[in-house]
Amino acid sequence: MDSKQFKEAATSAIDEIVSYYDTIQDRRVVSNVEPGYLKKLLPSAPPEEGEPWADIQKDIESKIMPGLTHWQSPNFMAFFPASSSFPGMLGELYSAAFTAPSFNWICSPAVTELETIVLDWLAKLLNLPDCYLSTSHGGGVIQGSASEAIVVAMVAARDKYLRETTSHLSGTELEDAIAHKRSRMVALGSDASHSSTQKAAQIAGIRYRSIPVTKETNFALTGAALAKALEQFKAEGLEPFYLTTTLGTTSTCAVDDFESIASTLAKYAPPDVPGEIWVHVDAAYAGAALVCSEYHHLTAAFKDFHSFDMNMHKWLLTNFDASCLYVKKRKDLIDALSIMPSYLRNEFSESGLVTDYRDWQIPLGRRFRSLKIWFVLRTYGVKGLQAHIRKTIKLGETFAGLLETRTDLFEIVTGPSFALTVFTIVPKVAGRAVQDKITKDVYETINKRGEIYITSSVVDGVYVIRVVSANPLAEEKYIRKAFKIVVEITEELRDGALPRDKSSNSVIIDVKGVGLENVAALNGSGMVN
Ligand code: PLP
Repeated sequence: MDSKQFKEAATSAIDEIVSYYDTIQDRRVVSNVEPGYLKKLLPSAPPEEGEPWADIQKDIESKIMPGLTHWQSPNFMAFFPASSSFPGMLGELYSAAFTAPSFNWICSPAVTELETIVLDWLAKLLNLPDCYLSTSHGGGVIQGSASEAIVVAMVAARDKYLRETTSHLSGTELEDAIAHKRSRMVALGSDASHSSTQKAAQIAGIRYRSIPVTKETNFALTGAALAKALEQFKAEGLEPFYLTTTLGTTSTCAVDDFESIASTLAKYAPPDVPGEIWVHVDAAYAGAALVCSEYHHLTAAFKDFHSFDMNMHKWLLTNFDASCLYVKKRKDLIDALSIMPSYLRNEFSESGLVTDYRDWQIPLGRRFRSLKIWFVLRTYGVKGLQAHIRKTIKLGETFAGLLETRTDLFEIVTGPSFALTVFTIVPKVAGRAVQDKITKDVYETINKRGEIYITSSVVDGVYVIRVVSANPLAEEKYIRKAFKIVVEITEELRDGALPRDKSSNSVIIDVKGVGLENVAALNGSGMVN
């Protein structure tokens, strides 16, 4: 493809992308292809001769589109959103054009320097304490995902803990102490932490323990729960060295009680004393809300913590991937992740005047991801980003308000919190198992029909439905449509669809998946009136 052909192809591709976005709401939001569908549509080997772009592009609609779940559709209300915006896409386009695995500053100084600048801009926008800025001892770095950020933070925490608690030893004594400590060290999260903390511990070869959280604290981790867990670990001879706290948990968007956690740690493992516990704030989704001043109070305790991560690619209009990790002391990352083989040596790195982001991450090479963040921040401005967050939070309130108009059908479990509402279906007959079953049936039927796409979870042992409408195209009319669909399907399944016993006209409950004790509680026969 020469530059003339590229221009024609790119123009045609952009036309198609624009029309995809303009009509995306009319597509079935969740793909319903069968596993292996694509293998049947594509040849078993690449073509011998190159093909014209027009032929390749045709296959996007006919072969790829059926297998896409449209995350940018306003009818996508599942998981957390994955933002996309036109400025974000332009950033990706330029990044592809300049392709360079810019691991060292000299590999492309603009890649490193723009990243430092835009991450400082963002830190100020999110109201992070000054210690997270590159102008102090900290700084930000773009990672691929919140999970990757947790692995990086945990590895830095592990090495720092081992280094600081064994600094008085040497030789085989040091080796033995490190081996012993590694076998006793434990990384912590809460029951509501994302599974990525457990996975990071698995990758780092470290024990993992999760601290229980309950409905009484709205599923937030508190200093009191942490203190109790720390006492218990101490009694077991374990050495906690790392804790994930969360701003916006995956199931319910709970916010951990950062202030009380900081107070507890000041007592049990004081900051800046060898053996302190590294606290990471996982704000993967809800961290975006910190662009609004009404959430700024949440960051006050972060000065006592060690790292913070939020995904601009979830709720902040930036295309995947743009996970922004901040550390209070960049030295901690570099100590854990730096390696300097001879072929990477250069005068700039050795001068100590430049940042080599390869020392802040797992891979060596890295993409020019700060461009899209720069484009997004400049195109929307602070006010535009705040407007997006506030609009979608309001949509969450609208949805929860609609649920409250039908308390005969729905019970809100948590929220609306950061645009996420979590609810269950009120069953015709009281009973946990019956409630779980009808909620699951409603959830599965909604997704099977494919007009909207939502997710489920289990909270406090209860099967729940999560609805979050926060992608860039979200609008009130789609929220109202979603509510209508949820009502229709709930009414249909709660009443109409349940088979009735011919002689008694009793509704026959399908006892599959219903706990026996609940069935017995109904009427002992699996039937109710
Ligand atoms: N942390 C939280 C709170 C999340 O909700 C998620 C995913 O939704 C993650 C971490 C993992 O995100 P990623 O896909 O960026 O690794």
